[in-house]
Order: sequence, then C-alpha cells, then structure tokens
Amino acid sequence: MIDTLYYRFGLIGYPLAHSRSPEMHRAAMAYSGLEGNYQLYPVEDDDQAEMRIANLLSHLREGSLHGLNVTIPHKQRALRLADCLSGVAQGVGAVNTLTRLPDGRILGENTDAGGFLYDIRRHGIRPAGHALVLGAGGSARAVVYGLAHAGWQVLIAARRVEQARELAHSIAGPARQPQALALDSQSLARHLPAIDVLINTTPLGMHPHIDASPWPADLPLPPAALVYDLIYNPLETRLLRSAREQGLPAVNGTGMLAAQGAEAFALWTGMPAPYDVMEHALIQALQA
Ligand code: NAP
Repeated sequence: MIDTLYYRFGLIGYPLAHSRSPEMHRAAMAYSGLEGNYQLYPVEDDDQAEMRIANLLSHLREGSLHGLNVTIPHKQRALRLADCLSGVAQGVGAVNTLTRLPDGRILGENTDAGGFLYDIRRHGIRPAGHALVLGAGGSARAVVYGLAHAGWQVLIAARRVEQARELAHSIAGPARQPQALALDSQSLARHLPAIDVLINTTPLGMHPHIDASPWPADLPLPPAALVYDLIYNPLETRLLRSAREQGLPAVNGTGMLAAQGAEAFALWTGMPAPYDVMEHALIQALQA
C-alpha cells in the first residue's frame, strides 16, 4: 500500500483570529484530492518571536511542515530567516510564503505582488497605464513593486509624503520610477484625468471603521479609473460604494487574497491551484 502524504500548511502572524486562510486552503486541498490541514500559528511580536518562527522553519526544513504563510507583523522577520529569497521577495522587501526546496533550503517568496497583478488582469486591466496608490505601508510595497515592474507609471500618495518618497526610491529597476505626492485634494487634483487604476492600500474603511474613506471628501474620483480597495472586510467599503455611485468599476481585495494564496498553494504542492474554488471559499467564510 502507498502512503499518501498528509500536507501540513500554516500561517504565522499576530493577531490571526480573523484569518480566513484556513478555509481557503482546506477548500483547495479538498478540490485537488489532497489530504491535509492548514493551521494558525499566532506569534506575538515580542522577544520570543524570532526563536518561535525559527522553530517553525526547522519543522519546514525537516519536512514535518510543508508550507508556511507569513503575515503582519513578521514579513520582514521571515525575510531575514529564510535561507534564500526570490527576486520578488527581495525587491518588495517582505516574505509572505515559505517553501522547502528539494535541497532542504527554505525559500522566501512574496506572492502579494503577483496576486495583485493577477487580480487586476482578471478584471480586464491589461496594458500598463497610470496607477495611483493611496498609502505607502507594507501592502503598498508589494502593489507598487508589482505595477512598476509590469511597466506602469505609479503615483504613490501618502499622508506622510516622506514615506511615499522612501517607497518610490526603494523600488529599483523599473523602466518608469514611481513618483510620490501628498494625499490631499490639492496634490491629487491635477493627476485625476490620467489615472487608469486607483488602489487603496490604507486600512481606512476597514471594519469596524466602515464610514472612513482614504479619498478626500471634496474631490471627485478619477473620471475613468477602476477603483480597487485591498480591504475585504467589509466586502464593499465606503470608497468602493462611492466609485459604484459614480459609475466606476469597483473591486475589493478578496481576489488578491485568493490569488496570493493560490500562488502559495501551487508552490507548496507543485499542482495548479484551483483559484475559483479558493476565492469562493474565502467569500463564503467572510460572509459567515
Ligand atoms: P500598513 O503597513 O500599516 O500601512 C498602512 C498605510 O496606510 C500607511 O502608509 C499608513 O500611513 C496609511 N494610513 C493609515 N491610517 C491612515 C489615515 N488615517 N490616513 C491616511 N493614511 C493612513 O498596513 P498594510 O499591511 O499595508 O495593510 C493595509 C490594508 O490592506 C489593510 O486593510 C489590510 O487588511 C489590507 N491588505 C489586503 C491584502 C489582500 O490580499 N487583499 C493584503 C495585504 C493587506 P502611516 O504610516 O502614516 O500610518
């Protein structure tokens, strides 16, 4: 009798109580005919964190774990602890997926950048144009890196313009260097007609502060943009509602979350990921 492999995947981060990654990955395993589980590993950001994550990595090296995702606040720590890094992880400066290579080393990958690009293409955005990114934190790094390396001209607007400038300068290698500006009506107004995609990477509008919006109240949205909000809780933020009311296409962050998970699943199993199954499981779990 042949022993079938029981896959053990998991997520390191803190807090994790609201994560829907287990439902998404369990659905992918069930659909693909794989036995296994996806477990949460909450690790607080304290002086024990490095040791606890290194310990989980040793399980991955030994083969008692088969794949790990990493989320806030440990994406930079995972970058330091991995044995080697993909070009994307290096460029973004953060690791959200850890995989064991055949030679036993742990590869740090970033699937957020590819996940985001996959999702905007899925919504019909193909040729590289002009993107306006609101916020310059962790998720903005992946979005800006992905867009800039796919040939987009990227504007980064942040309330602390020096944070936007630092992010713009840290993106090495693209043909068109990202530009920074302040997140206020005066600075944004003259850029609006050229914007093809507007992306919110700030937490403004996320549950429970659902009445907040990152967009200045006295400014119309760009007239011809697809409006993309990385937030997926709630499924329709105030920003997306305004976009829809102005007749603009509006997309929430569930597709990106499913796509980054799908890329991780494919890396861990070597099988094609059932993206639609994962997105469906995610939306069902978020609505439960
Ligand atoms: P982060 O690293 O904390 O960055 C947040 C950014 O938003 C920073 O630039 C921050 O500026 C800015 N910001 C915060 N409050 C603001 C305010 N009141 N006005 C203007 N700017 C403000 O957070 P993150 O990890 O990038 O996550 C951001 C959001 O993206 C979260 O809602 C998260 O759930 C979502 N997300 C979704 C996905 C997905 O797959 N769909 C993936 C990752 C993240 P300061 O530094 O000045 O505070």
